[in-house]
Amino acid sequence: MKLLEYEGKEIFERYGIPMTARRGVLKLGDSLERLKLDGPGPWVVKAQVLAGGRGKAGGVKLARTPAEARELTGAMLGMKIVTHQTQGKALIVEEVLVEDACAIAREIYISVVLDRKEACPAIIASAEGGMSIEELALSNPEKIIKVQVDPEAGLLDYQARQLAFDLKIPQKNFCEFTLFARQLVKVFLETDASLVEVNPLIISEDGRLLAIDSKIVTDDNALFRHKDQAAKPDHEASEIEKEAKAIGINYIGLDGDIGCMVNGAGLAMATLDTVKMAGGDAANFLDVGGGANVDQITRAFQIILKDPKVKAVLVNIFGGIMKCDNIAAGVVEASKKVHIRVPLIVRLEGTNVKEGREILARSGIKIEQAGSLWEAAQKAVAAAR
Ligand code: GDP
Ligand code: MN
Repeated sequence: MKLLEYEGKEIFERYGIPMTARRGVLKLGDSLERLKLDGPGPWVVKAQVLAGGRGKAGGVKLARTPAEARELTGAMLGMKIVTHQTQGKALIVEEVLVEDACAIAREIYISVVLDRKEACPAIIASAEGGMSIEELALSNPEKIIKVQVDPEAGLLDYQARQLAFDLKIPQKNFCEFTLFARQLVKVFLETDASLVEVNPLIISEDGRLLAIDSKIVTDDNALFRHKDQAAKPDHEASEIEKEAKAIGINYIGLDGDIGCMVNGAGLAMATLDTVKMAGGDAANFLDVGGGANVDQITRAFQIILKDPKVKAVLVNIFGGIMKCDNIAAGVVEASKKVHIRVPLIVRLEGTNVKEGREILARSGIKIEQAGSLWEAAQKAVAAAR
């Protein structure tokens, strides 16, 4: 799950990571009067969307007066934002964070990632942080520092000190930094994150070390260990994805027009690849699970057909634990309950496949059967056209 900046900062706060004071998070529809700002300012107004690069796309603005902060917040809420990380798509700004701004002397990049090759967490850092870290990684890869971390011990003191030297942290902030780095690793380990990023970590003109931005991605497979996190909305999920999750179906929306219903995640991935090879694009990933019964198949059809882009549905089921005749009966039963408004292509394989195909053929329902996955994919692509 990807967390918004302010959600990440709420976690940082529990770990004593130094930040400027957050003054409020406003949601679309909130009264701007809710934003209570006193003190001298300035403040920074930040669009809370799941993408970096907001700074360059108008999603980070500086306000000198409370009135200006309200005005900028009002203008930002509901705004569409396209950054270099949104793949050309516009995100709608539904929440805005307002916090104290500071004058920045230096911007540093630091993150903790999962080093899959070495099977351990690793710190990635650079003395030259800020908005162009991707470019730096390409043009000057030697300026990127990497420190592998023992997940049992966390970041060791000497490693934190070495990192502080390498990043040329001022002496005044040295101890603060080593503590910060160790806490950042702790956040990574204890939230079961796959990424914890601070870009930029800054030294302010008045000499403070501060985390100005936060990006945390947690591992969904560990959500059961984090009840508080699991209870929070998944900002990345579409309405259909949320509905599917609630009824226990693994569904991920995609950009194409061929709805796919498959049993097993591996077979579902293979189906997406095969559709692509046949010249089409899948509208979704959907794994109905191993014990797909009539109810589950009915729900899966309902979920797939909620996507208006769907022009054909490809059912690809391998009868292993479930036998093909039972699955076929399930598909027939389900398609009586759900109005399937598009061509339906079914490929069955496995135990009792002959009986299964007969049930489909005799059902009187308009089903195009395919003997192989390749044939099914080609038929689905043709039907969607
Ligand atoms: P991102 O572009 O989505 O990664 O958003 P960031 O939160 O990293 O902000 C982008 C840039 O805005 C930072 O790299 C800073 O240069 C600038 N910025 C953010 N907060 C402040 C602030 O409090 N004061 C100043 N002067 N600049 C800020
Ligand atoms: Mn940033």
